[in-house]
Amino acid sequence: MIEAIQNTDAGGHVDAFRAIVGEAHVLTQPEDVASYLTDWTGLYRSTALAVVRPGTTGEVAELIKLCNARNIAVVPQGGRTGLCGGGVPLAGRASVVVSLTRMNAIRSLDPEGRTVTAEAGVVLETLHDAALKQGLIFPLMFGAKGSCTVGGNLSTNAGGSNVVRYGNTRELCLGIEAVMPDGSVINALTGLRKDNTGYDLKDLLIGAEGTLGIITAAVFKLYPAPRARSTAFLSVDKLESALTVLNRLQDHTGGGVEAFEYMPQPALDVICKVFPAIRRPLAGKVATGILVEVASSRPHDGEEMQDGSIRLEAEVMELLGGLMEEGLVLDAMMAQSEQQRADLWKMRESILEAITEAGPAYHLDISLPLARIARFVEEMDAEMDRLGFRPLTVGHLGDGNLHYALSATEGREWNALPLETAKEKVFALLAELNGSFSAEHGIGQSKLSVMTKLKEPAQLAVMRSIKCALDINNIMNPGKLLPPG
Ligand SMILES: Cc1cc2nc3c(=O)[nH]c(=O)nc-3n(C[C@H](O)[C@H](O)[C@H](O)COP(=O)(O)OP(=O)(O)OC[C@H]3O[C@@H](n4cnc5c(N)ncnc54)[C@H](O)[C@@H]3O)c2cc1C
Repeated sequence: MIEAIQNTDAGGHVDAFRAIVGEAHVLTQPEDVASYLTDWTGLYRSTALAVVRPGTTGEVAELIKLCNARNIAVVPQGGRTGLCGGGVPLAGRASVVVSLTRMNAIRSLDPEGRTVTAEAGVVLETLHDAALKQGLIFPLMFGAKGSCTVGGNLSTNAGGSNVVRYGNTRELCLGIEAVMPDGSVINALTGLRKDNTGYDLKDLLIGAEGTLGIITAAVFKLYPAPRARSTAFLSVDKLESALTVLNRLQDHTGGGVEAFEYMPQPALDVICKVFPAIRRPLAGKVATGILVEVASSRPHDGEEMQDGSIRLEAEVMELLGGLMEEGLVLDAMMAQSEQQRADLWKMRESILEAITEAGPAYHLDISLPLARIARFVEEMDAEMDRLGFRPLTVGHLGDGNLHYALSATEGREWNALPLETAKEKVFALLAELNGSFSAEHGIGQSKLSVMTKLKEPAQLAVMRSIKCALDINNIMNPGKLLPPG
């Protein structure tokens, strides 16, 4: 068992936490806190004075005031699915983990105004279900939906597979309520779509990974639920052609592409090896595998045609037929039922677990201008092969986002491989191609050194000024996102 709890409670801190949230909501026993002090990747483990689970914004504010006065570091936590070690305290400072999972109420849902106000601890999938009951959707979508919370989604500005159509979490948020590092509460939950009254504080807190305050609630946009969907797995002749396929689909469906996910052969192989129950969507090897989903909420697109097919599906099928005639698409499997669609998405969403199960790997979450992705993949795959790595790549291709995981080539010993050289090669080419070293997972602890190396110094300086101005005692998630400087 890990040594989970910091044993310095000289100031009676734990009793003070209990006085604010009640005894039952302060966890200190090693077996109770162990999972809160280890991140999803298992790479980061730490200690804390306690894990505190407030139930209201007022309690969060009292906790932060106390921690600010006593110089205790505060580490906010949601569903603990973050992949960069952001939700685990750093060693060497008295810290408290503030878990928002008890704050899980959907405060209101306005079907007419198409907004929902949810507390930070609401699990993403719960929000999906609540919206769907009203014939609406909350379109943020990815594999951790059953565990991650909307507070964590906001704090990491999470992306996922529907960004190509709806944007990332920032674009889905209309307002937030948050507790600032001095314990003051900002309440910007009006849900207004237009409000130009000074600096947009929600945008400051979104993507701040808990370093500027604790988000306690937010207003999100909702969208009409699709009446028709067409989901297919394509083998496209080469990566360059994938962009043409995406643009053709967008042009013909009025921007109806909801997801355009890159799944090349090595990724399919590892998924099917680790999860033998998952069936390959196409027989034989795929050239450039793409999972595409087109959706429409227009009644017209959901109509059943004379031959029994749904109009949108028939149109997508016809379009794909044309792309096959042109030689851009080599093979395609269209989901014929909701079950087949679910199977395709299960396959896509299994990839991170499959890679993690398959053996050691280093995960890069990068983005590039769409037109430069093919060059990056071609050059970098060859370079990694020379160094003894086998890239296991998937990506939200429609957003220019690749999850580029480096595993060992068969027969090579992971520990003997030149990982630092490999990372430098990746970052150098990214810099040359105007890419980003962190597309959607954030910085946390894991990307601090590359942040120091690659983030423009002027931007880092502004970020530090903001942090110093708002968090004078550096209590909010210290040592995350901003490298020491
Ligand atoms: C299988 C799997 C698939 C994933 N796929 C994607 C994907 O496609 N796209 C993507 O973007 N991410 C993905 N992720 C990463 C992760 O799910 C997201 O980063 C998610 O938004 C984290 O939410 P959480 O509630 O788990 O946050 P946590 O992990 O608990 O916290 C993440 C960060 O946010 C801070 N934080 C949490 N709650 C608050 C709050 N209320 N106020 C202030 N700060 C807070 C924490 O301190 C930490 O720095 C995936 C993860 C897994 C395990």
